Amino acid sequence: MSKALGYAAQSAQSPLAPFSFQRREPGPQDVSIEILYCGVCHSDLHTVRNEWKSTTYPALPGHEIIGRVTAVGGEVTRFKKGDLAAVGCMVDSCRDCPSCKQGLEQYCEAGFTGTYNSPDPEIGAMTYGGYSDHIVVDQYFVLRVPENLDLKATAPLLCAGITTYSPLRHWNAGKGQKVGIIGLGGLGHMGVKLAHAMGAHVTLFTTSPGKQEDARRLGADEVVISSNQMAMAKVLNSFDLIIDTVSAQHDINAYMALLKLDATLVMVGGVPDPLPMQTFSVIFKRRHFAGSLIGGIPETQEMLDFCAKHNIVSDVEVIPIQKINEAYERMLRSDVKYRFVI
Ligand code: NAP
Ligand code: ZN
Ligand code: ZN
Repeated sequence: MSKALGYAAQSAQSPLAPFSFQRREPGPQDVSIEILYCGVCHSDLHTVRNEWKSTTYPALPGHEIIGRVTAVGGEVTRFKKGDLAAVGCMVDSCRDCPSCKQGLEQYCEAGFTGTYNSPDPEIGAMTYGGYSDHIVVDQYFVLRVPENLDLKATAPLLCAGITTYSPLRHWNAGKGQKVGIIGLGGLGHMGVKLAHAMGAHVTLFTTSPGKQEDARRLGADEVVISSNQMAMAKVLNSFDLIIDTVSAQHDINAYMALLKLDATLVMVGGVPDPLPMQTFSVIFKRRHFAGSLIGGIPETQEMLDFCAKHNIVSDVEVIPIQKINEAYERMLRSDVKYRFVI
């Protein structure tokens, strides 16, 4: 075991505070990584405050990790000491079920091991994430970091990037397609950049009028302020695909009405409470309401390589870990451009 330091919450009501714990010694297949940067995802906040009713305390989040390899186990072939390395939302899965065999570890039938707040069979406790100084991960779940990308701005690709890339790819976003992205936060701003790079016509839906300029700079062809009913009415029945990244309660029916015949709205936002949907939202125009969870390991590497090729990273504000509780409050007010990175 090796001593690790991080920031954890002891209950749903307590702030994140310094916390020391043990990491396992690297086994034959393990890579030990000194963490340089870790992005701050809204899922971290949902988890710390037990909004999904599934948190075990202490909770130590963080699943957008960029670091440098400090040691490798005897059977590790893909990394050596000194390499850059990244870790996203998963650190293990069964690797044997039909989903794992297709590289869709996020849909592992036995349940994947999350980077935090998952039972860790290796140490018999819960996993602790990237708000910490180092992490030990099986080499299969460690990603290669392209050399040309700014490291701090690359961290958010590991969750915000792959979570939007995967549905855009699965539903074939590209030239000639009208894609809508709802919410310009961590996920949303990556969705805008990625959909634009894939060649789609991109419309950003936002509740924040002040984000219009940024949205266009990030790659949106159009911006619609969702409270403006005239603007919403103008784009009824016109989208091939909509990705909804909103983290809180909102009127899903208003967005379903924007889909064309047979088109799909993909929910990626983890809204804690049910979203009431009218049956006619899907009956008319035979529309689909779908969901999507992060992305598998092969697709995460593909996304990093796509970003390297198109020179895409996240727009970040770097904070010292001591400011994490303040950052959570700002994230709740949509006051971040567009991802905090520790
Ligand atoms: P974020 O940075 O806080 O962005 C969320 C955005 O949603 C905000 O910037 C805001 O955009 C909009 N929004 C917030 N509250 C709203 C409200 N009450 N009504 C309408 N719009 C609202 O969060 P994030 O890190 O991108 O994460 C977004 C959600 O995705 C979270 O629930 C997170 O847990 C989930 N998530 C899911 C997956 C997955 O695999 N499916 C992976 C990662 C995260 P505007 O200011 O532009 O309106
Ligand atoms: Zn995340
Ligand atoms: Zn599996």
